Amino acid sequence: MNDCLFCKIANKEIPSQCVYEDELVFAFKDIEPQAPVHILIIPKEHILSAMELNEENANVISHIFLVAGKIAKDSGIDKTGFRIVNNCGVDGGQTVGHLHFHMLGGRNLMWPPG
Ligand code: AMP
Ligand code: ZN
Repeated sequence: MNDCLFCKIANKEIPSQCVYEDELVFAFKDIEPQAPVHILIIPKEHILSAMELNEENANVISHIFLVAGKIAKDSGIDKTGFRIVNNCGVDGGQTVGHLHFHMLGGRNLMWPPG
């Protein structure tokens, strides 16, 4: 996708604070952190939202959760815990049209969310 912010970040056309990368995913610090640890994990493939997942592209989701475990250890929140959030669509609060998972930790997170 030529005009997608997160594709450009994954391609390194736009700089980010990368914390993990492999052939399938890219993870970087959120520019407006909502917790001491706030990392975005994205598939390198452009997938608009969770509603665009299908049998062909859904394998990346299990991979993202495996990567999240590694990132948790590296960030020192594996013992204290964390939350992984996907915002989907307008009511879900999705503002960037490239599937992404927020990984939040480093403080006691509220539940339920607003
Ligand atoms: P969402 O509202 O779920 O679509 O989340 C989009 C997230 O992307 C927000 O938390 C933003 O702070 C974050 N964000 C937007 N632009 C950038 C950027 N250039 N680098 C890092 N994070 C960004
Ligand atoms: Zn994209």
